[in-house]
Amino acid sequence: MIDLRSDTVTRPTSAMREAIARAPVGDDVWGDDPSVAAFEAVVAERAGMAAALFFPSGTQSNLAALMVHCQRGDEYIAGQFSHIYRDEGGGAAVLGSIQPQPIEHDPDGSLSLEKVQAAIKGADIHHAITRLLALENTFRGKVLPEAYTRRATALAHEHGLATHLDGARLFNAVVASGRSLAELCQGFDSVSLCFSKGLGAPVGSLLLGDEAFIARARRWRKTLGGGMRQAGLLAAGCHHALEHHVERLAEDHDNARRLAEGLADVPGVEVGACDTNMVFVAFPEAHCRGLQAHLEACGILMAVAPVTRLVTHLDVSADDIGRVVAAVNDYYHTKTLRGPQ
Ligand SMILES: *Cc1c(COP(=O)(O)O)cnc(C)c1O
Repeated sequence: MIDLRSDTVTRPTSAMREAIARAPVGDDVWGDDPSVAAFEAVVAERAGMAAALFFPSGTQSNLAALMVHCQRGDEYIAGQFSHIYRDEGGGAAVLGSIQPQPIEHDPDGSLSLEKVQAAIKGADIHHAITRLLALENTFRGKVLPEAYTRRATALAHEHGLATHLDGARLFNAVVASGRSLAELCQGFDSVSLCFSKGLGAPVGSLLLGDEAFIARARRWRKTLGGGMRQAGLLAAGCHHALEHHVERLAEDHDNARRLAEGLADVPGVEVGACDTNMVFVAFPEAHCRGLQAHLEACGILMAVAPVTRLVTHLDVSADDIGRVVAAVNDYYHTKTLRGPQ
C-alpha cells in the first residue's frame, strides 16, 4: 500500500521499536523519566531555547502555549487557514476562553504585516486584549522566509505581543532551507514541534520556551490531561527520529518534487509549487471518482479531488512515486482510449 494521504501515517521502523524497547523510564509527572528528560534537553539545546516539555500531541502543545500566553478574554492573531486556529477543535475558545483573531493569508501563505498591525487592538475596553501572534512553518508545505519571520516577530514584540511558532513540520523547513533549528526558532517566545509526522515517531510533540514559560505550560499540561507516566517509551521513539530521520527528509522533498513533475505532465491535472513534502494538485472533477477507484485498486491511497494535497514521508520510496505517476497516467490513457463515460 502506498499512502500519500498524510505524513502522519508513518509507522515506527524496527530500529525505532528497538530504541523504544530499550528506553529507561520513570514517572514523568514526577519529573523522574530519564528518557523524557534527555530528549527535552537535547532538543531545547538544538533549538537554542532554554527549556522543553514533552506532549502527547501537537494540538495539546499548541493549546498549552496559547493558555500560557493568553488569559481569559485575551486574543491571539493567526492565519485564517492556520492549524492552531482552524484544525484544533476551537480549543483556545472552548478550553481557554481565548478569542482568535484570524487574518487572511497573502497568496504566498504569509500574513501581511500591515494586516497583523491593523489587527492589534489598543486599550479601548470594547476590545479583547491582543496578546499573541502565532505563525506556522512550514505552512502548507511552504517554508516561511526567515527575513519575514524576523520582521513579523519584531513587529509583535514592538507592540508588546508574545510570539508562538507552530513548527509541526519545522524540521522540513530546516532541511529545505539549510538553516539550523535554532535559526528558525529565533524571535519566537515559544515553539511547538511534532515528531509523529514525517519524522516517523508514533506519538510526540515538544513545546519549547524559557524556564518560566515551560513551568506554566507544565501546569496546563497536567490540567489538560497530558501528564504521562512512563512516557520515556514515547520520547525514545522521538529521540530516535531526531537522530536518524531528520536529514532523510530531503528524500521526501525529492520525492514530492518528482511526484509534482510526473503529475504536471498529465493532461488536465494542475500542480502547484512544491517546497517540501507536500504537493497541491487539482484533478478534474469529472475524473475524481474513477481515478480514486483505479488508484485504490492499484494499492494507492490518496485523496483525489479538485483541490487536494499529496504528502510524501518515510514510508514512501522513489519507486513508489514512479508507481503512482504510472498509475495516474495509466488511468488517463485507458480512459482516452475508451472515450468519455
Ligand atoms: C499535525 C499538526 C499539528 C498537531 O497535530 P496533532 O495531530 O495534534 O499532533 C499542529 N500544527 C500543524 C501545522 C500540523 O500539521
